[in-house]
Amino acid sequence: MIRRSFLAVIAFAAAMPLAAWAEAPLKVVATTGMIADAARQVGGDQVEVKGLMGPGVDPHAYRQTRSDIVAMTRADLVLWHGLYLEAQMEEFFHDLDRKRNVVAVADGVDKSKLRAHDDYADKYDPHLWMSPVLWKDVVVQVQEALTEARPEAAETFAANTEAFLAEIDQLDAYGKQVLAAVPENSRVLVTAHDAFGYFGEEYGYEVLGIQGISTQSEAGLNRIGELVDTLVDQQLTAVFVESSVSDRSMRALIEGAASKGHEVGVGGELYSDAMGEPGSYEGTYVGMLDHNITVIAGALGADVPERGMNGKLSAGF
Ligand SMILES: [Zn+2]
Repeated sequence: MIRRSFLAVIAFAAAMPLAAWAEAPLKVVATTGMIADAARQVGGDQVEVKGLMGPGVDPHAYRQTRSDIVAMTRADLVLWHGLYLEAQMEEFFHDLDRKRNVVAVADGVDKSKLRAHDDYADKYDPHLWMSPVLWKDVVVQVQEALTEARPEAAETFAANTEAFLAEIDQLDAYGKQVLAAVPENSRVLVTAHDAFGYFGEEYGYEVLGIQGISTQSEAGLNRIGELVDTLVDQQLTAVFVESSVSDRSMRALIEGAASKGHEVGVGGELYSDAMGEPGSYEGTYVGMLDHNITVIAGALGADVPERGMNGKLSAGF
């Protein structure tokens, strides 16, 4: 009896058409939330995506956990950012690259579009997601990686990519509109670390970070003193904290300005290197940037729609 049902199972499995096996979603692991979101948007129901870094996680400092390693070795495709963003995981990925299908999605973007790194002559600023225009190039890299992994779904991936790129264009147009409504001399963004360089280039903002491009560099007292002088000289009244970086040095900056009789407030919390809660609008790439654009423009003096580009922000400005 037992033997017969076992044979029946074998017979059933053998009779299953190949197509049914191919329809199982591709297992994709992505490091940052932004890349995981791109893989979900492009992959649709053809993929099952696991993002390693959740809300508030700093990719400059993150190291792979045991369960991350298990997930990556079982994945059909592993997407990481590259450009030295995941600095503590570089070696791990170069090693994994020899055994698994691994793609550094930001590495494929035309280097002439990138900003130089402030600490290393031969490296680039990795924060590409801060410019919707540049992020579109990364989305196309994700599309190429998925298409290579599952060529039979190429048309689906192309259609999904087109729709997502259109949504990012809409986001960029919204950003251009509301950020240009900020008075010209207030277009200065003071943040915890230098994550907003591409944002500044895209929308014409001066960007000043307490720490450099990586959160791993030390925020010196000199730098804080310099920024206090800038806040006082330029009469800037708002600075921004970041969800994935401690606000300790930002408090030192505000206190420094106060000791010189100049009042500075926190304009809001921005998503710099990590997105919001999974399942929320801010837990998507478009929602993350919509939040940043709306909070920055609003805090610096523009009229902004209370709940952002399409009324979906959870915390209204
Ligand atoms: Zn960063």
